[in-house]
Amino acid sequence: MVYFTKKALNIGKLVVITGPMFSGKTSRLIELLERERFAGRKVVLFKPEIDKRYGEATVKTHKGIELDATVVRTNAAGVKALEKAASDYNVIGVDEAQFWDENSGLEEVLDKIASSKRIVYVSTLNKDYKGRPFGISESLLAYADEIHSLTAVCTKCGEEAVFSQRMIDGVEESGPRIVIGGKEAYQPRCRNCFMRD
Ligand SMILES: [Zn+2]
Repeated sequence: MVYFTKKALNIGKLVVITGPMFSGKTSRLIELLERERFAGRKVVLFKPEIDKRYGEATVKTHKGIELDATVVRTNAAGVKALEKAASDYNVIGVDEAQFWDENSGLEEVLDKIASSKRIVYVSTLNKDYKGRPFGISESLLAYADEIHSLTAVCTKCGEEAVFSQRMIDGVEESGPRIVIGGKEAYQPRCRNCFMRD
C-alpha cells in the first residue's frame, strides 16, 4: 500500500516568503519544497536567469543545501514558459521573484496556478537598497494566502534587520536598483542603522 502519494490537492495556495538579504528566504523555500516532496507531491523549482550565483541548474542555500532548479527568463515570455513547465507539478517553487520584470505578469500567473489546486511557494526580497518596496513583492504579498516574513540580524547593532544596505568599498552607497557581481556587498540593517540617501 502506498501511503505517501498525494497527487491531487483539494485546494491550492500562494505562500510568499519575504525579508531582507541574509534572512534565510531561500533556505525556508527549500525546506518547504522538501516537505512537499516527502509528502509525495511533484515539486518543481524555478529561478530567474539573471541569478548566476550558484550555477545554471541548482539553488543552493547559505548552509549548502542544493536543489535542482529550472532557469527561466524574467520577462513575459519567461513567465509563459514557467506556466507551461509548471503544469505537470503539484507544487511550484519560485526563488528571488524580485528579479522578474514588473510587467512580466509573474504575480498573476502564480495566483492563477494557486487557483488550480496547486501550491506555490515564492521567495522575494522585501525592499530594495533604498528601502523602497519592490513592485513585484508588493503585489505578491497582496495575492498571498500565507506570508512568511523573515528578518536578519543587523550588522551594526544586532537588532532585527528588515532592510538591505548596499555597500561599496565598505561605505553605504546608492546606484542602480539591481546589481549582481562587482565589488558591492549588502548588509542587513535594522530601522535605526539603515542609512537612506
Ligand atoms: Zn541596527
